[in-house]
Amino acid sequence: MMREGITLGVGMADKKAWVSVYRGMSDSFFSVVGFWLRRIAAFLALCAVFSACMYAEEGSDGAGLRVSFLDVGQGLAVLLEENGRYALYDTGPDSAGLVDTLASRGVRELEWVLVSHAHRDHGGGFMEFARAVESGALRVGRLYVGPDTYVGIVRDSVLRLASRLKVPVDTVARGDVLGMRGGDAYSGGGSDAAAPGAPVARLDVLWPPKGEGLAENAASVVALLEYAGYGVLLTADLDSAGERRLLEYSPSLRADLLQVAHHGSAGSNTIAFLSKVAPRYAVVSVGAKNAYGHPAAPVMRKLAYVVGDSSAVYRTDRDGSVTFDLVEGAGVISPAP
Ligand SMILES: [Zn+2]
Repeated sequence: MMREGITLGVGMADKKAWVSVYRGMSDSFFSVVGFWLRRIAAFLALCAVFSACMYAEEGSDGAGLRVSFLDVGQGLAVLLEENGRYALYDTGPDSAGLVDTLASRGVRELEWVLVSHAHRDHGGGFMEFARAVESGALRVGRLYVGPDTYVGIVRDSVLRLASRLKVPVDTVARGDVLGMRGGDAYSGGGSDAAAPGAPVARLDVLWPPKGEGLAENAASVVALLEYAGYGVLLTADLDSAGERRLLEYSPSLRADLLQVAHHGSAGSNTIAFLSKVAPRYAVVSVGAKNAYGHPAAPVMRKLAYVVGDSSAVYRTDRDGSVTFDLVEGAGVISPAP
């Protein structure tokens, strides 16, 4: 299910290429050349494997920002990692085993959890944290919620649990900026674990504006995650009316990687919005055989058109969890094919 080991895949491909070059030679005529080619090929293959290992190590050591779209079935949960610090944008539904997924990735502490709006497929997973936090297996520094006015069991349950676990709660809206450090608002001073001068992740909240009185999907907290000049747009379940208004507020909005709104619903993802954002990669977080028919076929066609390559459009129902690395100077690095 996991699609990591990103650069190792490239290294293996290089090795195969060299092996096939060598096999194309005639043993009788090119025996001497073959001898040296064999050694050069072995050396290059070793170099490829070595550089792949170095690169994989660099990613897991946190040199960069890692963004993982977790396979939570029908729902959304995006894990962010920078310099060994973790944060979570949405939690998936309460039945997806999020705590086990986090534990398997070595996550013992979340600087913050942001629940984009009060629907079960985005906030229900927060209820799973109760036992893990109370037993000390997991620490949650802060809970961010949006100004969703919808009053229902999910919002009530999440807020009640945060209070019981003594997790501070803040409401965020357009204009707020979050960092990855201790749940504090972004100060621009950099993460204390980052090397001096290294890029620092920041999460700009773009939607909803304060005081709009929006509810449910329309009130989704939309954020642009920025690192080293690259952008990841997190849209939760924003609807098409919200997309239009967001572009009025942020006319120059664009991103390298897009979380496709509302699991690929046809009620979101207008061509105007998608072509404006113009991502290189897109991820649809969606459950297999879900009752809503997500993602809509026309949306998948629009995404293939806008991204320009249907293989750069990922789906968690088919691909499992999908991880991207944002690396200074290298851009957004996609999972191995
Ligand atoms: Zn949803």
